[in-house]
Amino acid sequence: MNEPFPVSPPRAWAEIDLGALRKNLAVAREAFGGGLMAVVKAGAYGHGLEEIAKALAAQEIAFFGVANVGEARRIRNAGVATRIYLLGATWSEEREEIVAREWTPCVSSIAEAEHFNRIAANHGKRLKVHLAVDTGMGRGGFVAENLPEKLALLDRMENLEIEGIGSHLPSADEDAEFTLRQFERFHAIIRELGGAERFKWMHLSNSAGLLGFDQGLCNLSRPGLMLYGVSPLPGFQEKLATVMTLKSRVTLVRTLPAGHGISYGRQFVTTKPTRVATVGIGYGDGYPRQVSGNGADVWIRGRRLPILGRVTMDQLMVDVTAAEDVTEGDEVEIFGPNIPVAEIAVKADTITWEIFTGITPRVLRCYQE
Ligand SMILES: *Cc1c(COP(=O)(O)O)cnc(C)c1O
Repeated sequence: MNEPFPVSPPRAWAEIDLGALRKNLAVAREAFGGGLMAVVKAGAYGHGLEEIAKALAAQEIAFFGVANVGEARRIRNAGVATRIYLLGATWSEEREEIVAREWTPCVSSIAEAEHFNRIAANHGKRLKVHLAVDTGMGRGGFVAENLPEKLALLDRMENLEIEGIGSHLPSADEDAEFTLRQFERFHAIIRELGGAERFKWMHLSNSAGLLGFDQGLCNLSRPGLMLYGVSPLPGFQEKLATVMTLKSRVTLVRTLPAGHGISYGRQFVTTKPTRVATVGIGYGDGYPRQVSGNGADVWIRGRRLPILGRVTMDQLMVDVTAAEDVTEGDEVEIFGPNIPVAEIAVKADTITWEIFTGITPRVLRCYQE
């Protein structure tokens, strides 16, 4: 169909700086000299799975870490040949494809390993798998008792190669003491299973583990968040570069008289004549409605300006009384270099991971080198 009208510019878009992504990868490398698994689950934390995988493909990454075979398939279909690691447990229906495409699962039970072993035998393959152990996360992995016996069983499965061992940190950004004990436990498990020579890859750290702790025997880390420019630990933020800048535009500017309610529920009522800009982004784009009334700001024409009243599905209102030059069509930074995404997460009573992954498909992702 021929559309006679000009293409409408998007109301909200995310500018994604691939140079900043690679800079953050270099920060991870500098912090830890071992191998890197770049975690790109959930559409690379909302940054766009294929584009991020392609941007990192030439960076000597050992693995891309994904949540499921759908994500693995998208990376493969993008023409990226880097090895793919499945971070969580797999369903039995997914395993045929995992074996056929030589993706790397972690195994949490003997039954799962046996199933992989049978499928690999049918394919005439030897599948590389990692032994997942639960050292405190409570989400997956073998419970850490009688591990030598379990490894002996796995070793007897001829079509599996136990290439690595991994575990996960539940509170590396909240509880250093517990995390240090977890590193000790993980090391003790590796020694109990025959020492570091036994595994090609040993991995425990997410971003916080990588930035905040000595890696000891570990020779692979699994950073996610820090690659996208946010440090889960204070003190490292200055080293990281902003990757995503979420933007929108002013659609309307009006002056409302004193005593005028703004947005649903009328939780904000003007006390004086107020110049109000309406901006074309809302919770339908993934901007959290929960910031309403919590003092979140946006950035227009070099100024921080406060949101008024509740965030609506497609629009939000901003007090531009102090910024007389603000006019219809002006670009608005919702978060980015001037409004840290971490600040929005705090005001929405959530975490940056959730803000990033909540940005909806309606928001156009624009990539810059
Ligand atoms: C998501 C995830 C990571 C990455 O965590 P970040 O805190 O984003 O660095 C690492 N390992 C596992 C098992 C994960 O699920």
